[in-house]
Amino acid sequence: MKPYLKRAWAEISIGQLRRNVEIIKNLNSESTEIMAVVKADAYGHGDEHICRCLYEECGIKYFAVSNLDEAITVRGYCPEAEILILGYTPPEYAHEISQYNIIQGVVSTEYAHKLVQNTPSEIRCHIKIDTGMGRIGLKHDTPELCAEEIESIMKTEKLSVEGIYTHFAVADSDSPDNIAYTDRQEKFICDTYDVLVKHGIHIPHIHFMNSAGTCYRNNPKSTLSRAGIIMYGLHPDISLDIPDGLKPVMSVKAVISHVKTVQKGDCISYGRTFTADKEMKIATVTVGYADGYSRLLSSKGEILVHGKRCKIVGRVCMDQLMIDVSDVETHSGDIVTLIGTDGNESITADELANLYGTIGYEVVCGISKRVPRIYTK
Ligand SMILES: *Cc1c(COP(=O)(O)O)cnc(C)c1O
Repeated sequence: MKPYLKRAWAEISIGQLRRNVEIIKNLNSESTEIMAVVKADAYGHGDEHICRCLYEECGIKYFAVSNLDEAITVRGYCPEAEILILGYTPPEYAHEISQYNIIQGVVSTEYAHKLVQNTPSEIRCHIKIDTGMGRIGLKHDTPELCAEEIESIMKTEKLSVEGIYTHFAVADSDSPDNIAYTDRQEKFICDTYDVLVKHGIHIPHIHFMNSAGTCYRNNPKSTLSRAGIIMYGLHPDISLDIPDGLKPVMSVKAVISHVKTVQKGDCISYGRTFTADKEMKIATVTVGYADGYSRLLSSKGEILVHGKRCKIVGRVCMDQLMIDVSDVETHSGDIVTLIGTDGNESITADELANLYGTIGYEVVCGISKRVPRIYTK
């Protein structure tokens, strides 16, 4: 048995992950530590290897995930780490939260009460404040009222409140209106924290920076920077540059299974959306939408063959697609690059995302389970 099937695979550069983390550490002030966001199988990169590298090699102590299953998985890789669940856990799982020493995000007084009713043990939490994302969290008109509810939640027996946090909605935009919006979000949580301090309450953590916050408005008041996408080397938003040296961790490759010459009038793939208007050389590539290479890239995407960009012709199928290789010397068995660098050319997940109107986040998360992840130094 070969170590992995050379059909379609993702190469994950652990060395680049380490370099990205070093850059993020340097962006943060001394008072801020990285909370590595490893939800969704570390944004599709594979949480085991990513967590082990972050925990054992980079010295990361804080991790954030979306749910209890992910938290328990990460606990297996990072025995002493602090792990925060950002999303919802049904209260009947409160016992598992304490059993695995996980920190739960708490979004309301009602939810806090339900959690503690469901376990005899103590529950650790960070309280989420909705300052403008409109998703989850305590919502108040003034920091004073918000602090009041936090103080009331803190009186809940068996509940240990160790942090407050909020999430930016538009920190990845440089329009004046959006900057003002993020300013207001940031001021609200900082003012809430100050009210608590004035009342003699010192909660260890206040955090509001995501990747965009970390890149564009780093603030020493945030004790944690919840870095997700920039750790994996992608842009929070394609239109804004990210700091030098942050580079993608994931590349995706496949192979050419068949090369043929077609004549003027020959059709390619389902729906006959492509008809050759001249003699052409067409190659078939061993990847399709079931691998997470979107069908929306039909007749749009490009693939690197020996360092040259080759256009997809016709529809992307479930397991295969066709490209125009009229200008490249290529043979069955050659390796091609869907995402990554070959020679002087690069195609990033951000570029693919832009082609069909999504974000790099969705492209890397969408690389399916069928695609083996291969880890390189
Ligand atoms: C996903 C998520 C993050 C990370 O966002 P990035 O843009 O990838 O840095 C941070 N905080 C919360 C609450 C999230 O849901």
